[in-house]
Amino acid sequence: MHRFVVIGGGPAGNQAATTAARLGAEVTLIESDVIGGSAHLRDCIPSKAMIATGGAMNDQRRSAGMGLTSTSPALDLDALRRRIGDIEARLEASVTGLLHDQGVRIVAGRGRLVGPHEVEITPHDGPAEVVGADTIVLATGSRPRVPDFAQADGDRVLTTRHAYPPPVLPEHLVVIGSGVTGVEFVHMFSAFGSDVTLIVSRQQVLPQKDPEVAAVLEDDFLRRGVNLFKGARAEAIDVDGDGVAVHCDDGRTARGSHALLCIGSVPNSEGLGLDEAGVETDHGYVVVDHNCRSSQPHIYAAGDLSGKLPLSSVASMQGRKIAEHALGLHQRPHRHLDYDKAASAIFTDPEIADVGLAEADAFASGRKVRVTKVPFSASAKALINDDPRGFVKIVSDPATGVVLGGSIVGQHAAELISVLALAVTAGLRVTDIVESLLVHPALAESLADAAE
Ligand SMILES: Cc1cc2nc3c(=O)[nH]c(=O)nc-3n(C[C@H](O)[C@H](O)[C@H](O)COP(=O)(O)OP(=O)(O)OC[C@H]3O[C@@H](n4cnc5c(N)ncnc54)[C@H](O)[C@@H]3O)c2cc1C
Repeated sequence: MHRFVVIGGGPAGNQAATTAARLGAEVTLIESDVIGGSAHLRDCIPSKAMIATGGAMNDQRRSAGMGLTSTSPALDLDALRRRIGDIEARLEASVTGLLHDQGVRIVAGRGRLVGPHEVEITPHDGPAEVVGADTIVLATGSRPRVPDFAQADGDRVLTTRHAYPPPVLPEHLVVIGSGVTGVEFVHMFSAFGSDVTLIVSRQQVLPQKDPEVAAVLEDDFLRRGVNLFKGARAEAIDVDGDGVAVHCDDGRTARGSHALLCIGSVPNSEGLGLDEAGVETDHGYVVVDHNCRSSQPHIYAAGDLSGKLPLSSVASMQGRKIAEHALGLHQRPHRHLDYDKAASAIFTDPEIADVGLAEADAFASGRKVRVTKVPFSASAKALINDDPRGFVKIVSDPATGVVLGGSIVGQHAAELISVLALAVTAGLRVTDIVESLLVHPALAESLADAAE
């Protein structure tokens, strides 16, 4: 029987394990913290739970526009903490149940490579053992990056993992970093009622995104009174008894009650025995090919450790593809994972989602594309919902009509983008969207309008 050993039980590892078990392998999964994944269950999910609570508060504030007389919402941090714990426990139980159902052996402990085909398991309780493996999957994830100039004490200076929720609601939060994570935290804490300052190292929040998309978000932040420090990099943090001072390289200082570091992550690759097993790395990330194979063909890496797109959705898909590849399914017609076609979303208010080719990238590369855009202010459903902010933009091939990409800014953008993700992956044409008989009134009608 094929011996399939997985180190790390996040979305990458548990998907690899369940798929391999379903395909007939004898699977061992080693997890040192929480089945479901530290980054997934202690960052991705709680951040979305907090955003949902912030969204409910914003909805209540906006309810006058729906013809209601409302009271101001009040946040109960203890109830929010219990809610997050409950969601995490339920998800952990459901993933563990799936692994058990597939007959996966789960070991609570640490795994490391001690030979090309040997993994040493140090359980939390009990003696260490070495297991042999035909295939090894490294899926140990990542953790928040803490820069040299900061000490994340969990009290005044926080990483994201201290923030679900923090012990007290920050009176004034200084968020360092304006990528996806930074803007999501700005959104959630300003919805909770904290004053927020955002340190933006460039001239635009979300520097990797379409400027038109970023502009909608910046407008929303300014409307909410968020203080934007543009073109400034944090380089030191002073903490005194009841506050922080974040010093920036342009001479400005942002003062607040708390600072939150949102400056990316580092891979969990120390102590994994990568050098000993001859696995090539780059800045701690395992170098992988398009099948997620490392420099050792029977050792794969998936999820954040692979240095590809750090998304739970991508991690799961990598895990599935690895199991299929290792167990021979790739010899049948097989679709490689195409990172350029991964949909992603930013859970701000309004939401932002995109997939495939971006308009700016098409123009930068000189590729001829057709770009069509429709604002939600023309949508009956958006008016009914009293939220006509944002737009749908579709990028297609002018010769064939094939959908190449798209962006959506507005309510439920993270759900609506699925239609464009399917179109991009399946090579559908704009006419396929136009000719779909959609529900009326629905926000999705704007997709068909933009495809016209
Ligand atoms: C604030 C934040 C918000 C996010 N929001 C989203 C989002 O909205 N959507 C999205 O798709 N993605 C989101 N992500 C990204 C997502 O959480 C990660 O990309 C995903 O969890 C990666 O999965 P993974 O399996 O590689 O790692 P993990 O989920 O971290 O799982 C890896 C596991 O390996 C274990 N491990 C490590 N070393 C060992 C060892 N030696 N032995 C045994 N076990 C070990 C760890 O304990 C961990 O449980 C977010 C991330 C952050 C930080």
